Amino acid sequence: MLRGGMQAWPLRVTSILDHAARFHAGQEVVTRTVEGPIHRCTYGQLAARARQCAAALERAGIATGDRVGTLAWNTYRHMELWYGAAGIGAIYHTINPRLFDDQIAHIIGDADDKIIFADLTFVPLLERVRDRCLAGRRLVVLTDRSHMPNSLLELDCYEDLIAHESSDYPWRDGPEDAPVGLCYTSGTTGAPKGVVYTHRSNVLQALIANNADGLGFRSTSSVLPVVPMYHANAWSIAFSAPMTGAKLVLPGPKLDGASLCDLIEAEDVTFTGAVPTVWIDMIAEMRKRGTRFKRLERIVTGGSACPRWIIEAFEQEFGVTVLHAWGMTEMSPLGTFAAPRPGMEALDSETRMRLKLKQGAPFYGVEMRILDDAGQEVPWDGVTPGRLQVKGPCVVAEYLHGAGGAILDADGFFDTGDRATLDPFGYMQITDRTKDVIKSGGEWISSIELENHAVCHPDLIEVAAIGIAHDKWGERPMLLAVRVPGSTLTEEALVDFLRPKVARWWLPDAVLFIDTMPHTATGKINKVALRERYRNSA
Ligand code: ADP
Repeated sequence: MLRGGMQAWPLRVTSILDHAARFHAGQEVVTRTVEGPIHRCTYGQLAARARQCAAALERAGIATGDRVGTLAWNTYRHMELWYGAAGIGAIYHTINPRLFDDQIAHIIGDADDKIIFADLTFVPLLERVRDRCLAGRRLVVLTDRSHMPNSLLELDCYEDLIAHESSDYPWRDGPEDAPVGLCYTSGTTGAPKGVVYTHRSNVLQALIANNADGLGFRSTSSVLPVVPMYHANAWSIAFSAPMTGAKLVLPGPKLDGASLCDLIEAEDVTFTGAVPTVWIDMIAEMRKRGTRFKRLERIVTGGSACPRWIIEAFEQEFGVTVLHAWGMTEMSPLGTFAAPRPGMEALDSETRMRLKLKQGAPFYGVEMRILDDAGQEVPWDGVTPGRLQVKGPCVVAEYLHGAGGAILDADGFFDTGDRATLDPFGYMQITDRTKDVIKSGGEWISSIELENHAVCHPDLIEVAAIGIAHDKWGERPMLLAVRVPGSTLTEEALVDFLRPKVARWWLPDAVLFIDTMPHTATGKINKVALRERYRNSA
């Protein structure tokens, strides 16, 4: 039997930082710190401190496979911690601070974090959940001695913890399929469930994400991840940026439009990624300033469907290319990118814009199919929706502790809970989350499509479509909309605007203008809250 003749080099995430530290040692990592000032270091320095952090974790008694909780913004310290934990074979567990306290307490207990590292911002949060979940867990504040807060909790100081450790700490070896990261789904449609990434899945995800039609980072890129490290594995950016030696610009706690635009301009940012709610603020800020971005070339938007006006604003007003992406925590998290394909450049601009609004095509490493309710594949006609299923080396096989039972079907596919169409370009378009779809008279109305049409009205900032109970039809659509300040748009005028765009029976039975849209812990429109509030309002 002939054996393969190549090296069994394990795909461990620590090798990414080693590479950055060796071949891009002088490249910068810039952070807006929680304490306030801008902090600058290099990959070389970050890697040295990650080793100090690993040594400190080992001294603290953290063993292979233990969970290391983090309640932290995107900062250099948070990066050190991810790599430091990985370097001793432990598992970084990002806790989303925007979840409800009860969910946070549940997650900390479910993950059984041995030690939790928190930014100053989140010390009050720890104090609130102390009695529910912190007994026996060591707590460390990600700051220096001079900023240590007064607290009833017993808190250690991160800088003290790592200060005297060796920056030559040798990473612990381990297999590539060992666990390294834990991230809970944000609970948009159900209780949060833990997804456990492996070294291998994270390395592959970063390699795959870096293809030119995807994130496509280079050593000359300057990358600002607005997407927090605690959301969906930070879209792989904590791995895919150092892998290429790209400059990293970490925004810390300040995620408002003005702070982000300041950082983008000051640090010559070429790429940034965020959920649509962030762009709303950023566009308003740039309009106020009346300027264009200096070097920003591309943004990736994902997490929820991107309204058309956002794409138009970036591309037409600011000359920035918008790449629409789709993914989920369970997919490490990237799944598709709407990058241009051959033949598209010949299409008229309206058709091209409609394609940009789609979530795009899967890249190598993601198998995808769409099934009808009978389990048959639906045609790739761009019209017929079905259940979206995925498979691949970066796709979840089971949740932590087997939550939810077996989640793969007989063919090994994971059901995303999304409904989508596929078109002849291989472009996928999400029509709904299965739980958000509006079922009227036995037929399905796509809430996302209704929202996409409505939010094209120049007087609207954000729109949500939900199903409200109806005696005859089961459910009927209702729109909740936030108007631009000063607008006098009426319900009738909005329905008239929609009339030529959708089938008559898709027109909403009711439109309600609200002052602010509720968002989930990951910045999506909180439809569960909207449904609870308005479901029986007809
Ligand atoms: P949660 O499932 O708790 O919301 P995730 O951030 O993992 O947490 O969400 C993944 C889901 O977000 C996808 O299944 C899909 O419904 C939605 N989503 C992600 N990106 C997009 C997008 N570009 N357009 C529409 N929906 C999206």
